[in-house]
Amino acid sequence: MPKSFYHFNPKTLTYEKVKLSFKQVLKRVGWVFASGFAMALIFVWIAFYFVDSPKVKILERENNELKGEVEYLTSRMEVMSDVLLDIEDRDDNVYRTIFEADPVPATERYPQILDDRRFDSLSRSEAYVLLKDANKRADKLTVRLAAQTKSLNELEKIVNNKAEMLSSIPAIRPLKNMYSITSGFGRRYHPVLKQLRAHTGVDITAPKGTPVYATADGTVSSENPGSGYGIAVVINHGYSYQTLYAHLSKKAVRAGQKVKRGQVIGYVGATGLASGSHLHYEVIKNGQRVNPVYYFNVDITPEEYNKLLESSKRVNQALS
Ligand SMILES: [Zn+2]
Repeated sequence: MPKSFYHFNPKTLTYEKVKLSFKQVLKRVGWVFASGFAMALIFVWIAFYFVDSPKVKILERENNELKGEVEYLTSRMEVMSDVLLDIEDRDDNVYRTIFEADPVPATERYPQILDDRRFDSLSRSEAYVLLKDANKRADKLTVRLAAQTKSLNELEKIVNNKAEMLSSIPAIRPLKNMYSITSGFGRRYHPVLKQLRAHTGVDITAPKGTPVYATADGTVSSENPGSGYGIAVVINHGYSYQTLYAHLSKKAVRAGQKVKRGQVIGYVGATGLASGSHLHYEVIKNGQRVNPVYYFNVDITPEEYNKLLESSKRVNQALS
């Protein structure tokens, strides 16, 4: 049933029925709806912009907490970076210098190109900018730590090789009680051949049977240095070093045997061209005879060393 509208006529003081067309009715209804909708929109807008919902408040608090955590993380990485910088500095300027290794190139420690495309999707709010920065720092630290680890591994290898090298270089005295060198390195009068000849080692007087020690790690050579040397032991040490122990009364090792520094390899005697019981000791580097006195440097005090050096300089007759 269609609704009826009445209009009060003050002249007739009666209500008169108003006749509205369907179009007019539709228009009025439309206005009512439109204004209601507009009011609703205004209310919603006010609610969104001026009143935070509890959910938004929770998210905001969480966001602030996260920002704080990221900032804290960044400051901790800053400290780590400083510590690492100190280690890198010591690595390049102390450790690698001691072991004669080149410093780690800067391009290895701090590569310029770090792929940060993966952060592109993050560049939005302040919190994300902080997070992006923290991520980049973490990436740089990872790269620097990897480079540092590699460097230390290299040094470890060098140290191990050095240790082997050090134990393979002649460094102790071949006789325990060796207070003086009877005859030194250089031109000496040969006691048997009765002429001036290059004395290619040092002579140390000792009673027959005195133990003779290997002066470094190595392998006993099968090489025979010549009949003049009598019963002799030659040790190959590697790193271009050899030592020779001559005029022995007896050998304590055989060719091919591995020996350690300080191991007894034979006993003092006077075999070969020798004028008395003594040890003739030679150090050979790259095939060249060198003065053995310079290689008595491990088990000796500076005073003892000077005494040996002085006695080795005496130009006298060799025991050969
Ligand atoms: Zn000699």
